[in-house]
Amino acid sequence: MLTEQQIQFVEKIASLKDFNETFELVKAVVLQKFKLHRAGLSLILQMMPSSLGAYHMLGSNAIVVNTYLLTTLKKIVKSTEEYNSYIFMVLAHEYLHSLGIVDENAVRQMTFELCKWMLGNDHAATKMAKNGPSAIYPELRSLMQSQFGRDFQVVRNFDRTNQTYIQ
Ligand SMILES: [Zn+2]
Repeated sequence: MLTEQQIQFVEKIASLKDFNETFELVKAVVLQKFKLHRAGLSLILQMMPSSLGAYHMLGSNAIVVNTYLLTTLKKIVKSTEEYNSYIFMVLAHEYLHSLGIVDENAVRQMTFELCKWMLGNDHAATKMAKNGPSAIYPELRSLMQSQFGRDFQVVRNFDRTNQTYIQ
């Protein structure tokens, strides 16, 4: 049984329209659940090896998301809700790293707890946070992409709402 708040979060995830909206939700729920917050991140999209969903370079302001996996997932997910769940889970994971949590297992556990608290045990985001996206999409295990692309794209207007007006 989901609580009223969880039902609202499930509906919210299903209706997210872009990276910016997704990241706003990530920041709001991380603040609500863990009382942690930071601003001023940028999002970069780049083709990366299929073993890598995204990364945050320690001390930098950037989260880099693998467009190769995004493109692949878009073809195999059954709904926008599932696709949004993947992006939410990935951004939440990297956002937690950007808050200074270096330990990979700690971040995985926190991402899982966050998703479970928001969405319940059976939601796609919670399952992916627990066992990785390939637990739901075994197709991901046979991907062969091993290169980093040379091109990258900076997502515009990302994380703007918390920037100060004084530049
Ligand atoms: Zn990580």
